[in-house]
This record gives sequence, structure tokens and C-alpha cells, in this order.
Amino acid sequence: MKFGTKVIHSGIEPDPATGAIMTPIYQTSTYVQSSPGVHQGFEYARSQNPTRSALEKNLADLENGVDAICFGSGLAAMDAILKLLTPGDEVIATNDLYGGSYRLMTKIFANYGIKFSFIALETANSIKEYITDKTKLVWIETPTNPMLNIVDIQAVCTAVEGFDLNVVVDNTFASPYLQNPIDLGADMVIHSATKYLGGHSDVVHGAVVVKSQEMADKLHFFQNAAGAVPGPQDCFLVLRGIKTLHLRVQRACENARKIADFLRKNDKIANVYYPGFESHPNHDIAKKQMKDFGGMVSFDLKNDTIEAANEIMIKTKYFSLAESLGGVESLIGHPSTMTHASVPREERLKVGLTDSLIRLSVGIEDVEDLIDDLDTALK
Ligand SMILES: *Cc1c(COP(=O)(O)O)cnc(C)c1O
Repeated sequence: MKFGTKVIHSGIEPDPATGAIMTPIYQTSTYVQSSPGVHQGFEYARSQNPTRSALEKNLADLENGVDAICFGSGLAAMDAILKLLTPGDEVIATNDLYGGSYRLMTKIFANYGIKFSFIALETANSIKEYITDKTKLVWIETPTNPMLNIVDIQAVCTAVEGFDLNVVVDNTFASPYLQNPIDLGADMVIHSATKYLGGHSDVVHGAVVVKSQEMADKLHFFQNAAGAVPGPQDCFLVLRGIKTLHLRVQRACENARKIADFLRKNDKIANVYYPGFESHPNHDIAKKQMKDFGGMVSFDLKNDTIEAANEIMIKTKYFSLAESLGGVESLIGHPSTMTHASVPREERLKVGLTDSLIRLSVGIEDVEDLIDDLDTALK
């Protein structure tokens, strides 16, 4: 099955009770048993829910994994993966991470004796220097947020072959339409389905897709034991969003390319970060591992101040000033005071996240309107 067919058909069966073509929202907490322990595979809704199961099958197929495990948010999914570790274990992570991921690692899991090193995984050959016999997890985010660096997933997976560790890829920014990390050697893929998968800024949700049944069993155990499960209505919304994933991401990519070209010509702008530019340092890797270059574009200003950035962000009309990304509508955001405020300024500057850096999540509106909007705000 090809991708555009999978999004619509994978894991989706007409409802056995009624024939409803759309997966029902099974809004129930428990299921009736015919005699003690005799049931139809569903006992209690933290443990199993048919709406959630349909989504899990769909996501497993989209990422070419064996199974998926859904959670109440992207960070809850990440929390479950980190709980596979035990005190003393070490994690190597991309240095330019989603702010909430950095916070979960350094402010929560560091207290439980897990050690994190943050390195520039764009240079995959250096990763071996950081691996010890305690390293259990390599955490990749690509494209990175908000600098849009590209990590060569296959190169990292090859470099760590033979070590007893798992490679996890946060695939939120690319979505499964653009990139499938398991095909490139990763053991697990994580999504904040709040973003492109849901796609309509109306739900918070997360998922892990895994390559092995053993890992699936462990994570289903955590899902049930720790209980950070999504509700059935949220699963339904993600299922519904996924049906148009390929069309939405395709259009967002087309729009982003045109917007990046437009921004590059503006004389108030210092740098435009967009992996689709041939001059982008990781352009060749992006071309190799992604179907297109994504809907995210970041840029900073020659007048590198928060005030100058603010002046632009409060003037846009179609680009709404808000956190998050991946919805049908365009968003504009200021990482250093919004999504990445929990990362210390010196850490931010090290990766190029300047005070004036602005991040765009390009939506699927008509691109002429979006360009006009930015043009007006920049003037
Ligand atoms: C939003 C996001 C998360 C966290 O997901 P939530 O659904 O907000 O918990 C993790 N990683 C990336 C790259 C994100 O953009």
C-alpha cells in the first residue's frame, strides 16, 4: 500500500456492530464480561480502547513499524520511553532539542540518576566518542527545532551498530509523510500528534512507533501501568487529521519553499534557516532522507533584538502568534521567549538561537496572502 492509501485505510475497518465507515468514538471506561475473565479483548479503557487501537494500527503502518502506543501528549510518549531506563543509564541527545524535551530530560529524569549529553548530531562521526557502556539511548530530533538542522538518521544508526542501545527519532517536524526513521535503522519513532498528524490545532496527543514486538510489549505495559492514555475523542481527531496528512504536508512544503525564497531577499533579515536551500549545511542529507523539506522556516534579523522581532510578530494577520506547529493555519513564534524559554540563553546562543530568531509554521493557505502578510509586517 502506498502512503496516500495507508493514511485512509490502514487499521480502519467498518464498525463491526453497525457498519459505520468511520471509527466510532468508544466513549466508555469499561466493558461488560459474559462471565469473569471472559471478554472480547477489552476489559478497562486504560488498558484497551477500540478507537485508540485503530489509531495505533494506522500509525504503526505509516511509520513501517510493528506497533504503535498512544499517549495523552507527545511528552507523555517521551516520558514512557525514558522510563525504560534505570538509574546510571546515559542518553545522548541532539543539542538543539524541542524545549519541552530538554526540560523533561534535565529537570525530571536527571533527578532519577539518568545522565544526558547534548551534542551536535549533525556530525554523526563524532557520536562514538560519547558512547560509554552505560549509554542506552540516542535521541535524535530532525529537522531540529528551531534551527532546522538535519541529522543523518542512517549515519547515526550505522555509527552505533553493535552497541547495546536504542535509537529514538522524534519525527514530529517531518511527519511520516516526509521521513520514516525505522526504514533508516531507528528502533523507535516518537510523534507529538498535536502537530502535523492531528493537523488542525484541536488536540494534544502523542505516540511511539516501534520496530520490535518486545519493545511494543514493554511500552504497552508502561501505557497501562502509568496510565497517561489519550481519550477516545482525541484518538478520533488524530485519525481524522491523518486522512489528509499527505495533502496538507505537501502544500505546507510548497508554501514554505516560496516563503523561504521571499525572506531570503529581504534586507532586514540576517539569516534564513530552511533545509531546502542548497546552501543549507545539511541540504544533501535532507534531500536523501526526506521526501521534501518541510513546512518550517526560521529567520533572524540584522537588528538582533527581542523588540525588533516583537514588532514583526504582532503585525502579522494570517500568521497567528502562538506556540505549536503543523496545523492548517500558519503560526509565527519567538522561540527564545516562547517554546525555548526553558533553555538557558547561553545554551540557546550556542546553537544559533538568537534573540531575534522567529519561527514560522507555514500552513496551507494561499501562499500569496502569506507572503503579503510577512511583507507588510516586515515593512
Ligand atoms: C510539541 C513537540 C513535542 C511535545 O509534544 P506535546 O504533544 O506538546 O506534548 C515534542 N517534540 C517536538 C519536536 C514537538 O514539536
